[in-house]
Amino acid sequence: MMEATVEARPIRIGISSCLLGSPVRFDGGHKRFRFATDLLERFFEWVPVCPELESGLGVPRPAMRLVDSDGGPRLLEIKSGRDHTQKVEDWGAKRLDALLEQDLRGYILKKDSPSCGMERVRLYQPGKDMPERKGRGLFAAALMQRAPDLPVEEEGRLGDPVLRENFIERIFAYARLRDRFEGRFTNGEVVAFHTAHKLQLMAHSTVAYNELGRLVARVKQTERDEFRKEYCSGFMRALRVPASRGRNTNVLQHAAGHLAHLDGTSRQELADLIHDYRQGLVPLVVPVTLLRHHARTGNVEYLRGQTFLEPHPKELMLRNHV
Ligand code: SF4
Repeated sequence: MMEATVEARPIRIGISSCLLGSPVRFDGGHKRFRFATDLLERFFEWVPVCPELESGLGVPRPAMRLVDSDGGPRLLEIKSGRDHTQKVEDWGAKRLDALLEQDLRGYILKKDSPSCGMERVRLYQPGKDMPERKGRGLFAAALMQRAPDLPVEEEGRLGDPVLRENFIERIFAYARLRDRFEGRFTNGEVVAFHTAHKLQLMAHSTVAYNELGRLVARVKQTERDEFRKEYCSGFMRALRVPASRGRNTNVLQHAAGHLAHLDGTSRQELADLIHDYRQGLVPLVVPVTLLRHHARTGNVEYLRGQTFLEPHPKELMLRNHV
């Protein structure tokens, strides 16, 4: 079977320290995120980061907020207006150098934080008390600019089963991608990687799958680093589009077409389950489990190698909810 399973080395995930239960918030509290500490911990190695503490602001510290300015958002103490932007940005630039050397495969950020929030952080206009929810934390912005392909989410959004499944899927896909393209790669390895991800990519975007396919067709004529960069960013961009029920259904039907060995009853049973999934009567795990079973018993190599059938460890039970 092709690389539907992931590397044996630990998958390192950056995370806002307070989400692991560390008492690093401005008031000495934490914001333990149980999905991370109770479930994901078995699969990932955490790399905790608290930008405000590590940049020297201490605990406890005055509460802060993001304030708009011509040169970009500033991180100010709410009461005194003291400006910590430069301090956190200088520290962040060095910390990111070290962090990215640790080969992170994902990052979980604390929502709403003026340092860590990924989106919709309160952004104030100078001298005004009515914020707009359109800011991004200082450290989060620097992280996402430095590592645009890295799967990044905030814990608030991970309460949504579709976003949760998408994020974890992207982490494991990114791990495989980095493994494949980290060092030297042959044209054949590129084709094999792309083929193994065909159904997975199609569940997110057929357009992106086809674009990547055209890129793969030119791999021989493309300079190595240029190919790597273009393929990797196109691949991760495609997976950021959440897989929809409609696209998953198309992929399931496409996959069922490869099970030529099935008798009429088994074929109908699978078609009925795919239909039930389409109608929202059963979760995705149900037809996928039956497909995997038929692919294994019929020894259908093409399907057995598809990452779509097993994009992340089943113990996470993510497809039981989408
Ligand atoms: S949100 Fe970020 S800066 Fe604030 S306590 Fe958590 S890790 Fe530290």
